[in-house]
Amino acid sequence: MPTAYYFDGPGQPLRPEVFALPAPGPGEAVVRVSLCTLCGSDLHTYFGRRAEPTPVVLGHEMVGVVERLPNKPLSDIHGEPLRVGDRITWSVIGACGHCFPCTHDLPQKCDTLFKYGKKTGGPFGGLTTHCHLLNGTAAVKLPADLPDEAAAPLMCATATAAACLRAVGPIETLLVTGAGLLGLSACAMASAAGVWVVVCDRDDARVALAKQFGATDGWPERIDAAVEMSGAADPTRFALSQVRTGGTLVLAGSVTPTPPIELHPEEVVRRCLRIVGVHNYTPADLLTAVRFMGENQRRFPFAELVSRVFPLSEVGEAFAFAAREKPIRVGVRA
Ligand SMILES: [Zn+2]
Ligand SMILES: [Zn+2]
Repeated sequence: MPTAYYFDGPGQPLRPEVFALPAPGPGEAVVRVSLCTLCGSDLHTYFGRRAEPTPVVLGHEMVGVVERLPNKPLSDIHGEPLRVGDRITWSVIGACGHCFPCTHDLPQKCDTLFKYGKKTGGPFGGLTTHCHLLNGTAAVKLPADLPDEAAAPLMCATATAAACLRAVGPIETLLVTGAGLLGLSACAMASAAGVWVVVCDRDDARVALAKQFGATDGWPERIDAAVEMSGAADPTRFALSQVRTGGTLVLAGSVTPTPPIELHPEEVVRRCLRIVGVHNYTPADLLTAVRFMGENQRRFPFAELVSRVFPLSEVGEAFAFAAREKPIRVGVRA
């Protein structure tokens, strides 16, 4: 039976709800979820560190197989209508395509934005057997040999890393602060493009892990750019101090409030710095991420970053395990 696990608020167990498989409208689709990985922001919501409207089906890193379509189905990112049986991932956001942000390369800030794993009702999240995809979603078909464990995080971490590197532009050296999945993805993508990558994290095990994702031991004389993925104040300050004159600092990790950091405008002026915020990504970034993962899944051990997969019926255990063991990712499979 199609079953979704609804989040009603922190401290309450997720509530299973059996539902009738929705009849998708024009431009929509219903997908059977193969795997959902828990992102750090799911943990923030589940444990009450940030508030989201409820009841909601959490989970926004998914891979699935198209199961039900209307006469005029959702098309993939290339404009090809989806077919039943297509294995896909899709954009974490849905956008209208017409408003000011949508027509200015910021669909993730659409005036009528919705987000998978945040939109109430549905189910529009990953902790369910089936997810309802709405019009305005960028769906991407996946290479058949890409494991679910490497594919699911494309929807959040990997595509966001692609957006960060697009914001940076061409570089030779990169500092990544924070070696969670965002940081590891940025390391791998940049090193695959021939960039000399160095990484900082307060956890030595994660620094060691980053070496498997292309980070190196040496420290370049000049750092062209830094991407800040930790969301903490100290690494942000450090990243700012390390970027060369004329370099770029991308801030992407700070998705919950942090203490302010001191910024001297004169320093930004004299060092000709560029400071860019990146939140989520565009459909083109998702496509970049899917292509990268398809070409490099054997070069970097992405699938191994999902340390354990729980059945959907034990989703509460999955959250407890994630909080206790702090693995890079935990999976949930219906
Ligand atoms: Zn996420
Ligand atoms: Zn829009």
